[in-house]
Parts: sequence; C-alpha cells; structure tokens
Amino acid sequence: MPSLTLKPGREKSILRRHPWIFSGAVAGVDGDPAPGATVDLLSSKGDFLARAAFSPSSQIRARAWTFDPAEPVEAGFFRRRIRTAIAARSPFLSGEGPGVRSDALRLIHAESDGLPGLIVDRYGEALVLQFLTAGSEFWKETLADLLLEETGLTTIYERSDADVRELEGFQPRCGLLRGHISPSPFAITENNLRFNVDIATGHKTGFYLDQRGNRQRVREFAAGRDVLDCFCYTGGFTVNALFGGAKSVLSVDSSAEALALCRENVALNDLPAENHTTLEGDVFHLLRKFRDGARSFDLVVLDPPKFAPTAAQVEKAARGYKDINLLAFKLLRPGGLLATFSCSGGVDAALFQKIVASAALDAGVEARILERLSQAPDHPVALSFPEGEYLKGLVCQKAG
Ligand code: SAH
Repeated sequence: MPSLTLKPGREKSILRRHPWIFSGAVAGVDGDPAPGATVDLLSSKGDFLARAAFSPSSQIRARAWTFDPAEPVEAGFFRRRIRTAIAARSPFLSGEGPGVRSDALRLIHAESDGLPGLIVDRYGEALVLQFLTAGSEFWKETLADLLLEETGLTTIYERSDADVRELEGFQPRCGLLRGHISPSPFAITENNLRFNVDIATGHKTGFYLDQRGNRQRVREFAAGRDVLDCFCYTGGFTVNALFGGAKSVLSVDSSAEALALCRENVALNDLPAENHTTLEGDVFHLLRKFRDGARSFDLVVLDPPKFAPTAAQVEKAARGYKDINLLAFKLLRPGGLLATFSCSGGVDAALFQKIVASAALDAGVEARILERLSQAPDHPVALSFPEGEYLKGLVCQKAG
C-alpha cells in the first residue's frame, strides 16, 4: 500500500476525524499512487492514522475514507457506507410528516456521509451523481453499480460539472452513466407539490433540494401576503407561497429559462396564475427600482447564488448580502417578513447574522429574528466536518 507521511505535529485534525489532509502537512509520499488511489496516512512516527484517497493536483492532498486500520477500501466498504447513508434517510423518503410526500432527496452528502467527493441525489426513479474528487472518480464504476443495487433503481445521470472538480485535475463530465433517462425535464414531488426538474441542464443536480424545509416554512408564512421572491430560479419558494395562500407573488430572476420553468411549475400545481407575475432582471437593480417606485411587500425571499465560494471572497460577498438585505428591509411593510439566505461556505451563520443586522441598521429598520433556518436534514453535517454546513437562513420580522 502506498503511503503519505505527515510532518511532525500535523496529525491533530485527522485525529479529530476531520477527513482532509492539506498538501502543506505532507512530509512525503511512498510508492507511486495514481490519482484517486488509496494510500495509508501515517504520522511522522509511522503510526497509522487513516486510509485515504490521494489527490496529487489538489491543495487537499488526501481525503480519509476510513480511520480503521482493519478496514480495506474496496467494494464492501463502499456498500456499507452507501447502505448506512440510505438507511439514515428512510424516514424522509416518504416525506417529513404524516401524509407528506417527497420523492426527491439527497442520499449521499459527501464527507458528511463518510464518502468524500460523492454527491448522490434521487429524483424520482433517477439518481443524479457528482464525482467531485480524484477518489470518488477512481471508484466511479464500482460506486455506480453499488448505488443501483442498493436502491433498486436503473438510471444514473452524471453531473460532474461543479468547479471544484477542476482543482482535482479533472474535466467536467455530464451524461448518462447507467440505464436510460425519462424525458427531461420530468416532475418530482416535494412536500406534495410538483416541480419540473431538468437534471441534464438545471443548476447543481437539477434542483435546490437543500431548501425543502425552508420552502415549507415560507408556505406557512405566506397566507394573505404580497410576496417578492428574489432569485426565484424555477419557483421553489414561489409555488409554496402561492399554495400557502399568498395574495400575490412576484418572482424575479436573471434567467429567462428559469422563469419559464417557474411559470410552468405554478401551472403544474393548478395555482392561480392571476396572482403570479415573473420579472426578468438583476435583483440588485430591481430592488432599487422598487424602492424608488415606493413599492412594498409583506414577505420578501432572498435566496441568492453563492457570493463567496471560499473565504477569499468573503468581503465582497458581505457587501453583496448587505446591499440586497438593506433594500429588502426598506421594501417591507411594517410587520412584514424577510426570509433571507446565504449558501456561501465562506460566510458562517454568525457573520451572516451580523451582515443582516447591519443591513437593518443602515435601512433604519427595527427587526427581530423569528427563526434560524438551515439545510434540509438529507444534507447532514458531520460533527467532525463543520465545512459541511453551508446553507443558513434567517426569518426576520420588521417592527410593526
Ligand atoms: N430560490 C431558488 C434557488 C435560487 S438559485 C430555489 O428555491 O430553487 C439562484 C438564482 O439566482 C438562479 O436562478 C440565478 O439565475 C439567479 N441569479 C443570479 N444572479 C442574479 C441576479 N443578479 N439577479 C437576478 N437573479 C440572479
């Protein structure tokens, strides 16, 4: 077995079961491991620490599969991990409460399920996979076969087109990996509502599954309100607000295709089109236009794309978050609600709250937090891997 030996004093994080080994911590490589091949990770004294996947091109030089010296990394190991992850989600397979149904969920959330670099989302009868690291790429065929065996499904679509894959030295790859595909887009069910999802061209693996529970909350808050859904994409929040009895919903996005799907999803659920308007444009610009036109709303949703993928862009991201939140507070009527989100890994929950607080202050608005929101429970966060937590949200109420 090839091995990586750490520099003295650099084993602390791996002993706490954090799965990443950075290149700066590595003293040397023994043997000639291929990208993604399994290596033993040794302390400077030669003690076994973990068995890991080798990533020669990445700053994250290795990712631990297992901390058990007796556990070989082969098909049986992956089958156990896959089984555990799927079993952990079985309560959600039928939805999140009596009579509630969802048939789209994340089955494997990478590091947080002990499978670094592997994302598996289920959309009805199809699995959509992302292989984001050398290690998950190395085991691709084995993982695909095991996933079909363990789920009893026959179709896998690959969406390995996330930017992080490049850091691992791999080209993006999208396409069918197993079976045949249902006509795309096709409808999935989330909390009993239907959404057309395009797994071939949609964002991420097709849909923002991490917002499932938060859409449900917005549904519960929406009755009788004039709602502004900013960065609406295909209408996840819009459809829920209309279903929850919103008086009106205005859905804003810069993508005409997303807005077309948003209207389609409103129709798919037989919701009143006369209460719904879509508007194509830049949210930063439109919020100013609404402010200048003295428009107001009872509920504003802000679910922007990742402004800060890494810590390096945090400052710029903070300015972006502050700007849209400040404008949103101004547009809210007294007693109105702001459901505001950040999916930037570089902005943690405490910083996000500070940004929203300074937005309210500068808007001259008094507001309170009613609820803190997070990613849905099929996107768990391993306690040893806090980086797994990326989505945070606040529901704030403007003083009446
Ligand atoms: N709320 C959505 C997900 C939002 S994803 C859901 O529940 O599914 C972010 C969306 O923001 C994308 O649809 C993207 O097209 C849009 N977007 C990105 N930058 C934008 C901008 N400056 N103005 C308007 N929309 C933008």
